[in-house]
Amino acid sequence: MTSYKPVKDRFEVFERSDGEVFLLLEEPFCKRCADPIQEEYAGHGLCYACYEGDTRVDGYNLSKVYAASIYIKKSRGHNLSKEIKEFKRNPEYGEGLSEILEHCIAEKYPELQNYELMVAPPSGDGERDQMDELLKILSQDVELPYRPILERSEDYSSQKELSDKGDRIENVEDKIRCTRDLNGEDVIVIDDVYTTGATMYNSAKALREKGAGTVIGLVLGRDGSLSHFEFAGILEETEGEDEG
Ligand SMILES: [Zn+2]
Repeated sequence: MTSYKPVKDRFEVFERSDGEVFLLLEEPFCKRCADPIQEEYAGHGLCYACYEGDTRVDGYNLSKVYAASIYIKKSRGHNLSKEIKEFKRNPEYGEGLSEILEHCIAEKYPELQNYELMVAPPSGDGERDQMDELLKILSQDVELPYRPILERSEDYSSQKELSDKGDRIENVEDKIRCTRDLNGEDVIVIDDVYTTGATMYNSAKALREKGAGTVIGLVLGRDGSLSHFEFAGILEETEGEDEG
């Protein structure tokens, strides 16, 4: 099986206060969904999927997604991926990961400071709510309010019988709802990993239905296949059979 390692000069280096060094996403990446793109295609500014309109970042409910870095399951040479994976089991990683998001908001993507509210997608059944703890820490460090206003709505379809048929059909697949009315606030949805975009999109949609202004996403890791990242020029094959 082929092993891959990051192409280091395609990343920005960030040193955390504990001395740990991370490889963060550097341009060119898609201006909509943060997917890394080949340097030759940097001029387009969009990945192929977004260029074709085949994306969950629809520009209406979900305006844009920012990512601190990529996420790869075989995390050889990419310690942020390793920490994201550990974080799912161990909430103690939250504080260190919060510092990476703080760097994104304070310096890497300073336009994020124009947003008014941070939220997290609802956690899965039985999972510990790791993002909730992380965002409480981040909220203090970046002075942006965090509100736990998204929740799962398994009984959503029965509730929808009270409303009009069009809405019911349109929303039948929705699993996320917002528990509070919003008043045009611009919102950042923060999650650990962006994979298909379904969670991010449905979170944004729920927020917009309750009156949010612009909704964007911010994640620690933009997921993708190893071969795709190799094609984009940010991973390269490495010698040896061992997997990290
Ligand atoms: Zn894209």
